[in-house]
Amino acid sequence: MTTRGAVIVGVGGLGSPAAAALAAAGVPALTLVDDDVVETSNLPRQPLYAVDDVGTPKVEAAARRLRTRRPDLRITTVRSRVAAANAREILAGHAVILDGTDGLPSKSMLNDAALSLDIPLVHAGAVGLDGQLFTILPRRTACLRCLFPELPHEDDLPTCQQSGILGPVVGAIGLAAAGEVSRILDGDAPELANRLAILDGARVRWRVVELRPNPRCPACDAARGTC
Ligand SMILES: [Zn+2]
Repeated sequence: MTTRGAVIVGVGGLGSPAAAALAAAGVPALTLVDDDVVETSNLPRQPLYAVDDVGTPKVEAAARRLRTRRPDLRITTVRSRVAAANAREILAGHAVILDGTDGLPSKSMLNDAALSLDIPLVHAGAVGLDGQLFTILPRRTACLRCLFPELPHEDDLPTCQQSGILGPVVGAIGLAAAGEVSRILDGDAPELANRLAILDGARVRWRVVELRPNPRCPACDAARGTC
């Protein structure tokens, strides 16, 4: 199977700045996955979109904008939401996945899919004034479910739509995630494997928490079974 570069799942507040940064960095190929259309409320923190794009599918508007900057960039657009049923079809063959989704259930599903497909995953998330990211190398480093073996109920978790989100925080997390993707595409070791980087946007402080794989993690256990 050919390698199709990086796939960005969710081209919103996280994925949009990440896509712009990766295109500017010279990556040869990007796959953009999102089923949303551009809304006026997206414009302040999603730098690929402009007023004229409102109502247009995000993947189309993003691809159009990126091509004006990088005509040579190979862009594949997938107007869909990644779910367990279609994850393999959408993600297989990529060198690295960037998680730009919102909400722990979708992030957990993406984690499990990345482990099953043995593709590195850069997890990124931001809610309110806080953001975090780390990189998952399947079967080698801690995954998202090493941290959260049991998923909290969706109703117990704030989403960025409920808690709000600070544009500079989500932008900083998206750019940092793009840096990790670039390192992996270049064949370099990621900085944030087994290291959770947390941005406190209120105080503009980063801190890093060392992680280790959880021997009772159900996702890592299942991935080892697929070897
Ligand atoms: Zn795990």
